[in-house]
Amino acid sequence: MKLAVMAGDGIGPEVMNEALKVLNTLSSLDSTLQLEMEELPWSSAYYMETGRMMPADALSYLQHFDAILFGAIGDARVPDEVTIWDLIMPIRKEFQQYVNVRPVKQLKGVASPLDTKAPIDFVVFRENAEGEYSHMGGRMYGQTSQEMAVQTTVMTKAGIRRLSRYGFDYARKHGKKTVTSATKSNAIIHTMKLWDDVVREVGQEYPEIRLSPVYIDALAAYFINRPESFEVVIASNLFGDILTDLGAGIVGGLGLSPSANLNPEGQFPSMFEPIHGSAPDISGKGIANPVAQIWSAALMLEHNGRPDLSDLVMNGMEAVLAEQEIRTPDLGGKSSTADMGDAIIRAIHAHT
Ligand code: ATP
Ligand code: MG
Repeated sequence: MKLAVMAGDGIGPEVMNEALKVLNTLSSLDSTLQLEMEELPWSSAYYMETGRMMPADALSYLQHFDAILFGAIGDARVPDEVTIWDLIMPIRKEFQQYVNVRPVKQLKGVASPLDTKAPIDFVVFRENAEGEYSHMGGRMYGQTSQEMAVQTTVMTKAGIRRLSRYGFDYARKHGKKTVTSATKSNAIIHTMKLWDDVVREVGQEYPEIRLSPVYIDALAAYFINRPESFEVVIASNLFGDILTDLGAGIVGGLGLSPSANLNPEGQFPSMFEPIHGSAPDISGKGIANPVAQIWSAALMLEHNGRPDLSDLVMNGMEAVLAEQEIRTPDLGGKSSTADMGDAIIRAIHAHT
């Protein structure tokens, strides 16, 4: 398995280090896992040196990897616009990583700030290649009072269809009964009505699964009121982005929340990253929670044909969290990033 490792900025390299330790442990335990990892320095520091987030031929270089393991980027010295549009977005778009998978799952031993009847366990599939995050639009300068900006949302039938199909297929494969679709077609009457129409059309091919379209504002409230009732949620780029940070919040925080940017057809590499950013407030202290990054590596293993090893990592991680002994400060403990990684590795050894 040929992996491109982009640790990035801030806590990115700190948590990535633990994920790489876990992957190396797996390959030492299982000789059929042949890992070829290449660390790429593309980050804000790289930008400060070269004026670019990554080299001009970065995408054609990355194309030859089986997967990309990504940490986080973001640095006060570089505008967010640059880090996002010159690195993350080109990778997601060029490699047609049109499904952003974000599990919202409460692991044993991690308290939710909510008082729920059952453990929270659902998955959000966020559209990742079009939608609200487009480059189209502009700022119009007139007299100061008339200055305005226009931002165009682009949704295509094909784009909505492939995302919803992925969600329904997942639901079918995993025996889920309901797919919830985040919408706002009462107010956003062009793009969101197309979204509704296409989702409904796709849903008809899955008669055993109930489609439940819910307005995004109400859905945000339901995530708090009855999060245990969701199974599969499909959402546009912007709605999915917001919903999944909310999702992270209700299952214990950003330090525990992974994601996968999938190119389901496998023509291009998929990319796996925690949903958190570079967390400048805690970087350099060695206290970031590495679980989101390690879980992202587990998603990578699952997507690349090793669900057995992915399970091994998940079991190890859950065992450490359930034990409640070694925990980073975001979980109320005093352990370091490395302590947490080491404990997970010990748990993996104990389970094999
Ligand atoms: P960026 O601009 O890179 O997105 P940010 O500060 O906007 O950075 P995050 O980096 O996601 O956003 O951090 C938000 C908050 O969550 C911060 O207070 C941060 O310390 C905390 N946080 C994020 N990731 C972790 C982690 N892995 N472990 C512990 N705390 C974390
Ligand atoms: Mg952020």
